[in-house]
Amino acid sequence: DPVLALSGIAKTYNQGLPGEIRVLRDIDLAIAPGEVVALVAPSGAGKSTLLHIAGLLDTADTGSVRIGGEDVTGLSDRRRTAVRRSDVGFVYQFHHLLPEFTALENVVLPQLADGKPKREAEARAQELLARVGIAERAGHRPAQMSGGEQQRVAFCRALANAPRLLLADEPTGNLDPETSDRVFGALMELVRDTGLSALIATHNLELARRMDRVLRLDAGELTAA
Ligand code: ADP
Ligand code: ADP
Repeated sequence: DPVLALSGIAKTYNQGLPGEIRVLRDIDLAIAPGEVVALVAPSGAGKSTLLHIAGLLDTADTGSVRIGGEDVTGLSDRRRTAVRRSDVGFVYQFHHLLPEFTALENVVLPQLADGKPKREAEARAQELLARVGIAERAGHRPAQMSGGEQQRVAFCRALANAPRLLLADEPTGNLDPETSDRVFGALMELVRDTGLSALIATHNLELARRMDRVLRLDAGELTAA
């Protein structure tokens, strides 16, 4: 089974109102286990909407979403939240780390929320931080870290509960080009080591070319690029 399968997804905002905007029309997408797909789109093309629908943060008007072979389209909000928590990791352009907690704690907290014992959660957090090269930052708060380091922590947090799917929206978009390149490399290594499937939105065509497949979202349609 594909890890993520979207079929016939359509989304219109402000339906029937003056500001009506048809953002997605008939989107089909299947991401295989271990496959990393780049999503390239001009600003305003609907990539956030697409990622939010794929990650069960938003619902489509029509079409179906399957995660790990399970049709999650018609599930209750409570079940959708449960699937999202266990199966999907998110990374955004901004790290959204909790400022009063250390790097380690930021990676531990989602695991505690998922019911994992504290010692186990800490060991996993430490291991993840080491894998992205910031083991020595474990006790630092976000404000004490560079932008690149903050994003690395955000990657670890997204993977903390071992999701099957990573959804990333311009994960290195806030970093200078050189830092972006290195931090993106760290993310790709982490994804490859984990065998995770990923859909990663980026404006950076060079980064996109490092992925298995590049898709372009334009005028509400998804095409191979
Ligand atoms: P992208 O991430 O590609 O920039 P978005 O998915 O954020 O695009 O938005 C696509 C289009 O839909 C934009 O024109 C945006 O203004 C509009 N839009 C996004 N969210 C809403 C909303 N909740 N209500 C109305 N319009 C929206
Ligand atoms: P990275 O590529 O990991 O983002 P940088 O080259 O940006 O690292 O920064 C190198 C080092 O400089 C970091 O390990 C960090 O200690 C320090 N540093 C950079 N920016 C900041 C910042 N805004 N606040 C605190 N320390 C910083």
